[in-house]
Amino acid sequence: MVEKDEIVIAGAAGRQVLCGHCGADQDRWRRVLLNSGTSELLGFAAFSPEAIALTCTRCGKMVEFADGALDLRSAPQR
Ligand SMILES: [Zn+2]
Repeated sequence: MVEKDEIVIAGAAGRQVLCGHCGADQDRWRRVLLNSGTSELLGFAAFSPEAIALTCTRCGKMVEFADGALDLRSAPQR
């Protein structure tokens, strides 16, 4: 597994994740919590409240994926 804040190339469902804005293929990643307070109130606590947020290293656009949906690989050094 890659380290937090390491620059990664992400894949999901067998496709490389490309930035929806600029098309770059490298992102920084971090774990985020999805308003767990609300889900616990509604009895959904059994579902993982975590997601992975990817931030494009070129333009800063952020996207979120469900935890476990992503394949993160270290980006090659350029
Ligand atoms: Zn971008």
